[in-house]
Amino acid sequence: MTTTRFAPSPTGYIHVGNLRTALMNYLIARKSGGTFILRIDDTDPERSKEEYVDAIKQDLEWLGLQWDRVERQSERLDRYHAAADELRQNGRFYEAFETPTELDLKRKKQLNMGKPPVYDRAALALSDDEKAKLRAERGDGVWRFKLDHERIEWTDGILGNISIDAASVSDPVLIRGDGQFLYTLASVVDDTEMGVTHVVRGSDHVTNTATQIQIIKALGGTPPEFAHHSLLTGPQGEALSKRLGTLALRDLRENGVQPFALLSLMARLGSSQPVELRTEMAELIEGFEVSQFGTAPTKFDVEDLYPLTARYLHDQPLEAVRPHIDALGVPADKAQAFWDMARENITTLADLETWWTLCRDGADPLIADEDADFIAQAMTLLPEGPFDGETWGTWTKAVKDATGRKGKGLFMPLRKAVTGMERGPDMSALLALMQTVRARG
Ligand code: GLU
Repeated sequence: MTTTRFAPSPTGYIHVGNLRTALMNYLIARKSGGTFILRIDDTDPERSKEEYVDAIKQDLEWLGLQWDRVERQSERLDRYHAAADELRQNGRFYEAFETPTELDLKRKKQLNMGKPPVYDRAALALSDDEKAKLRAERGDGVWRFKLDHERIEWTDGILGNISIDAASVSDPVLIRGDGQFLYTLASVVDDTEMGVTHVVRGSDHVTNTATQIQIIKALGGTPPEFAHHSLLTGPQGEALSKRLGTLALRDLRENGVQPFALLSLMARLGSSQPVELRTEMAELIEGFEVSQFGTAPTKFDVEDLYPLTARYLHDQPLEAVRPHIDALGVPADKAQAFWDMARENITTLADLETWWTLCRDGADPLIADEDADFIAQAMTLLPEGPFDGETWGTWTKAVKDATGRKGKGLFMPLRKAVTGMERGPDMSALLALMQTVRARG
């Protein structure tokens, strides 16, 4: 039975980078009929905020990424205590008292000597008396996991065969001096106890994974399958980390991006499959294969979401957008005609307002000097309102008969005079909805 989890820390809003992780884990679980857990990594009481927990849930719900259950690390501290005790008993856990400044100094020395900046395990040599003395002076130490110095190997679902020399990695701190459990231990305990079978996360976690595999084994567990996806970059390959704050899901939502535009892009971007608009979750689930994702950094361009959004909206029936149309004040008997006219001419639903304003209030006419007389004459031939689907045809025929103009020379100046624009929706459909034509004077 497959079990995956999405494990955000509620210290901010989730962004496209987090979404990639969430979506991959979601799709793996759904494809195999397994379980998708939303795990709130809130062991840091200072930075974790309830409003972010709510926001994460709202964002996932907006996208339709429904979880099967929620777990919270803050409610599982007793489990982490038990695991810590077990590691102590196994001789895999030791207290260390170096201050951050001391550690920094050690690292600098090592680097100066051309050595990798790996923690030197000086604390392992402390006698009980020395530890008691340090504890009295400095308070509780941090607790480090003692890595076995061997190669840690796994077959990564995306990166392939990985082999990391444990001796090149510092013994990870699992408990801070103030007693706070760090993510590495909490995550391992949760993954093991919750039966997580597959962990997909960003490639910034690869070293974590190496140490976690040893911790899981030290606690008698079996490591899950790991897959590390590449990190997102901007369209030019530039780092995205600083800009991710502006790519929060809620900002995209406010900017009118449709859920399926975002899902369709993120479920395929960076894989060997093309990005195509999908409008059913089942299609995204069906075609998803984590092994098809590449290892190279993945370029993400927020602009790609808008054509997909436009395409999505284009095919939506009136019912799907009715509340937006009603909210604009479009009369009920015109709603269908308005949607049919507008849907091919919008990028996001916000554009509907522009079209409705045009229908309701008319537009400032765009009239070239050489067309001024022509337009003045045409306006005398424009039927009284209310207009309907025939008005444009009847009117342009009358203008053609009266002026002898035809083709583009006939239609283009009229379109510009009525709509103030050189292009736009089909004029029969648009004029039928217009309540006033300002060019008429
Ligand atoms: N809370 C961790 C993070 O957001 C989870 C990483 C993981 O998936 O294990 O980085």
